[in-house]
Amino acid sequence: MSEANWKVEVTGACIASGMCVGTAPAYFELDGDRNRSVPRSARPAPDPLLLSVADSCPLEAIRVHDAGGTLLAPLD
Ligand code: SF4
Repeated sequence: MSEANWKVEVTGACIASGMCVGTAPAYFELDGDRNRSVPRSARPAPDPLLLSVADSCPLEAIRVHDAGGTLLAPLD
C-alpha cells in the first residue's frame, strides 16, 4: 500500500442497490447479508473509476478521500 492510496468507505445510507458492485466489482461487494455494499479495500490505489462510482451512487453512500483526507467524491 502506498502513502498516496485513497480512502474508501460505504456509509449506512447504502440500500444495497448493487450498482457499485456491478460497475466496479474489483472494489465493492455486498456483505454476507446482502444488505449493504462494503469496499474490498479501504485504502485502494487511486483510480478514476472510484470517483465515477461514488458520483453515481443514488444515495451518495460511497465516500472517497485522498490520502490527506480531502473529499474527492461525491462532490456537489
Ligand atoms: S451504489 Fe450506493 S446504494 Fe447501491 S450498493 Fe453501492 S453504495 Fe449501496
